[in-house]
Amino acid sequence: MALYSRVALTLCLTALAGLSQGPQYDLVLQGGHVIDAKNNLSAVRDVAILNGKIAAVEAKIDPARALKTVNVSGLYVTPGIVDIHFHSYTGTGEKNSYAGDLSILPDGFTFRTGVTTVADAGCSGWRNFEDFKQRVIDRSKTRILVFLNIVGNGMRQGKFEGDLTDMEVKPATEMALKYKDTIIGVKTAHFPGPEWTPVENAVAVGNAANIPVMVDFGSNRPERPLEQLLGTKLRPGDIYTHCFSGLRNELGPNGKINPALNQGRKRGIYFDVGQGGGSLAYPVAVEAIKEKFLPDSISTDLHTSSMNSGTKDMLNLMSEFLALGLTVDEVVAKATWNPAKEIRQETLGNLSVGAPADIAVLNLRNGKFGFADMYGARLNGTKRFECEMTLRNGKVVYDLNALGRPDWETLPKDYRRQGDARWDAISPVGRGGGGRGAAAPVTQQR
Ligand SMILES: [Zn+2]
Repeated sequence: MALYSRVALTLCLTALAGLSQGPQYDLVLQGGHVIDAKNNLSAVRDVAILNGKIAAVEAKIDPARALKTVNVSGLYVTPGIVDIHFHSYTGTGEKNSYAGDLSILPDGFTFRTGVTTVADAGCSGWRNFEDFKQRVIDRSKTRILVFLNIVGNGMRQGKFEGDLTDMEVKPATEMALKYKDTIIGVKTAHFPGPEWTPVENAVAVGNAANIPVMVDFGSNRPERPLEQLLGTKLRPGDIYTHCFSGLRNELGPNGKINPALNQGRKRGIYFDVGQGGGSLAYPVAVEAIKEKFLPDSISTDLHTSSMNSGTKDMLNLMSEFLALGLTVDEVVAKATWNPAKEIRQETLGNLSVGAPADIAVLNLRNGKFGFADMYGARLNGTKRFECEMTLRNGKVVYDLNALGRPDWETLPKDYRRQGDARWDAISPVGRGGGGRGAAAPVTQQR
């Protein structure tokens, strides 16, 4: 048999085998502009999903091979957004506490903004991490990872966060090692005193558990200058959050960025935005960007007050950084692949074949928009990201304009629940029972 006909026969048999097994993919997102920094991709591609994982990213995927196809042309398709500064230990009933009323439940804030993974930034310490886990982490559809506070009591404010005797290395290390899949870092924050103990003990836990440290450098104290933190105390791979607040000499008296920032970057320290309620000032951010000192990661520091302040959500901050002069590809990288690398979760923040199918489908609107910094000053912008659709583990968990839904007028008069558990995790209010067509909940799966 001639070679070409043998090839043809093989192709033919493969096609037949494919048909007999039903659709090859659960879902195909068709015609979107895919931005995947890990794979150096920024181009129009189709994305296919099977069993919760990315199955193919190609110029053209035949929709006949998919159970469900959604046309997303004109939209960006990015990895699910990774917000590494979030506060989610709520439900304890404690007032004025990030291990209580100041924290927020992630699912109400994440999927509607394309976020699929958050890292809680130190709300809990070794004493209350397990309560946080059973109360929030295990019950959420959002993937929640944790920076364990070096303070055993976590972020309960005031006397707790200043208590040097509750920054114990041994029990914190043991807790981090016991829950390696969830505790991905150590946090020190809000420390008012002159001592280095919080940073040193956090680094000791980081060394013992082989995880990075995230620092909110607390009160500005001459006894512990930024130069020393970034020059010697932190290790390569540790994270300096609130990097554009200007509260700790990030901007020098000469109006230039403190050289310690660039020296820290040369040593391998990461710089994270964490805009929050009071941690980004435009004079600092604009000067830093002018000097080409861009943040490694964009994050919210979301809690009950920042959620309605200048910060609002990840897409608002990504839009703000467009207004500050970054490109779409840059802000997407700084909200997906970069933060995933910083927390050493390299299966996240990218669309490689085999990666969890956590995906954001984003619209970039043009118009007159505005953003606000920590002092309430406005920055004008002309572009704003809006989340069209979010997928978590391959299933649609948010769909702003019902892109994945059939027009009701095309359905039979007595139509019932639409969707299929293989791609749909939104449970529509439907008459009639569950069964094959019913939407299934997203299970917590890493
Ligand atoms: Zn915070």
